[in-house]
Amino acid sequence: MELLEGRDVPLGRYSVVRRTLPNKVRRTVGAWCFLDHFGPEEVTGKPGMRVPPHPHIGLQTVTWLFDGEIRHRDSLGSDELIRPGQLNIMTSGRGIAHSEDSPAAKPPLLHGVQLWVALPAGSRDQAPRFEHLEDLPVASAPGVRMTVAVGSLGGVSSPAVVHSPLLGAEVTVAARTPAEITIDPAFEHGVVVTGGAVRVEGLDVPPGSLLHIPEGRAALRFEGAGRLFLIGGVPLEEDLVMWWNFVARSHEEIVAARDEWQAGSDRFGVVPGGQEPLPAPALPMTRLLPRHRVA
Ligand code: MN
Repeated sequence: MELLEGRDVPLGRYSVVRRTLPNKVRRTVGAWCFLDHFGPEEVTGKPGMRVPPHPHIGLQTVTWLFDGEIRHRDSLGSDELIRPGQLNIMTSGRGIAHSEDSPAAKPPLLHGVQLWVALPAGSRDQAPRFEHLEDLPVASAPGVRMTVAVGSLGGVSSPAVVHSPLLGAEVTVAARTPAEITIDPAFEHGVVVTGGAVRVEGLDVPPGSLLHIPEGRAALRFEGAGRLFLIGGVPLEEDLVMWWNFVARSHEEIVAARDEWQAGSDRFGVVPGGQEPLPAPALPMTRLLPRHRVA
């Protein structure tokens, strides 16, 4: 097992997030290629989340809240308010645009995670789609409660559509002695602790860090009192080119997506709400190179 340190990154104009994926030493966990933990942040009298329309290709976004509300709008016409315990999963396929904002009347705290899943070669050019799921299955074991956002855990399965063997779950732990859950030994896993203090296999996982657990384990033991987000999947062997909001396989694909976004192409469409779209940053001077999952 390996503790990966995250870093603070500004998101939009008003928020800072703790990013643990991609990480210098490990770029993916299963097909999970991006993990931001935001908040808990007091948003009363503040704008809260303000992420203007921006594009995605080659990925699914997964939004999960512990506190607060976010309004999602996308170029398919979706307009959904997400609350704690619900899942927003947006499949960009070949192209989509969306915005994410705190609603005008909002609860005092905003706290959650946003993740991306890299779409494998056979799925990444599909048509875009958006799912909002309000009733996710819950499983429990002594001292542990698991809400399954993606995949299967504790004998229950999420209806969310994904394109590789994958797990994403909120786990609350209240256990003075180690509480054990069964996991898929074909998966590698990752844990971010999002509240309280939880030890995993006897190790402290400090806030802002990701604990990586390699394949080959059939169980995980948690102790302490707190909450974590557990991710997992079969290690992704495809090398990825990730830049800005795009997941691709080559420099040329990134350049094409950037050009089409800047030109206002139909590839991404228009997000309702009349907000000014986010311009793409300048490309680096050097060619973007495909990266393997482990540096
Ligand atoms: Mn986005």
